[in-house]
Amino acid sequence: MPIKNRFAELLPEITAWRRDFHEHPELLYDVHRTAGRVAELLREFGCDEVTEGVGRTGVVAVIRGKTDSKGRVIGLRADMDALPIHEQTGAEYASKTPGKMHACGHDGHTAMLLGAAKYLAETRNFDGTAIMIFQPAEEGGAGGDAMVKDGLVDRWGIQEFYGMHNMPGMPVGSFAIKPGAMMAAADQFDITVTGKGGHAAKPHECIDTTLAAAQIIVALQSVVARNVDPLQNAVISVCVVSTDSTAHNVIPQVVKLKGTARSLDAEVRAQLEEGITRVATNIAAAMGATAAVDYQRGYPVTSNDTEATEWAAAVARAISDRVDMDMVPMMGGEDFSYMLNERPGAYIWVGNGDTAMVHHPAYDFNDEAIPAGSSWYAGMVESRMPAA
Ligand SMILES: [Zn+2]
Ligand SMILES: [Zn+2]
Repeated sequence: MPIKNRFAELLPEITAWRRDFHEHPELLYDVHRTAGRVAELLREFGCDEVTEGVGRTGVVAVIRGKTDSKGRVIGLRADMDALPIHEQTGAEYASKTPGKMHACGHDGHTAMLLGAAKYLAETRNFDGTAIMIFQPAEEGGAGGDAMVKDGLVDRWGIQEFYGMHNMPGMPVGSFAIKPGAMMAAADQFDITVTGKGGHAAKPHECIDTTLAAAQIIVALQSVVARNVDPLQNAVISVCVVSTDSTAHNVIPQVVKLKGTARSLDAEVRAQLEEGITRVATNIAAAMGATAAVDYQRGYPVTSNDTEATEWAAAVARAISDRVDMDMVPMMGGEDFSYMLNERPGAYIWVGNGDTAMVHHPAYDFNDEAIPAGSSWYAGMVESRMPAA
């Protein structure tokens, strides 16, 4: 039976798992219920090994192919965590926990990979070893990095990694992928501008921190516009401005700025870090103030290996006639990047249809995308490790 037909058959079961995860969202590493259920199902499917507590709350399962060979070892990854958002979908399976919801579709990713695990454990129509990876804390907690640091690659001998994310606005069951950067490096910075506060009517006796901060906010855009190659991509956004003054007539002692810096290239990333520090400290100095810059590197660029992208696209084309390879990368971050930094692999988007965007309270994972997603995961194993 072709893969896709089997997943059409499994759809009600996979949908039920997905909706159960959706009703019980958990944040960051605190995914105990979800991980417990994932491990329970993987054991039910007859996976050869199931290990819990990898990278704190991650789950790893091993499925060996039909022939006991020293074949390839491929890792397939899904994420399990939800977001601190109050759900507004009105779905019958809506979150039962106020203030938490699966607004990024990780419930769907987990369910689709479980579907693939069930299929692979029952068919084993491949020659090699498939590793199912369920990670915690994708949403800002670097759970992928935690699993890597816990020995994911060496403990299971993983040679290639494949990951997937749903994408609203793309037709259901369609795919998009490209070689190179798919998602951005996502860094953040804190700038503390210190001057001399005082009476707002006596600015000459003060060092105006708000004026210095305002100049810094404007000048930071010159890093993107004038330092970075115009054919490259970069974003600097200052998102928080706060001061220690609450009065209309008090110049603050300190102004704090918080923001994010995104890039798709290691060199550009270094330029942003250097540029933000240089501009903030020197603009502050020009105004007689000081600026302390704390630049924190977050998730690296999610970069697809060229060959792995071809394999991933070929599997997608066998499932769907809509595989977009001219897609534009996104400036969001993705911590699957930590796995792709260790071994070659690829990350693909699967269409979620005309739904609200991820991270929106009205977003919902589209269950109709399940057969395509599960088929792709399973297809990667069967195509990269064909049975002899
Ligand atoms: Zn997200
Ligand atoms: Zn996500």
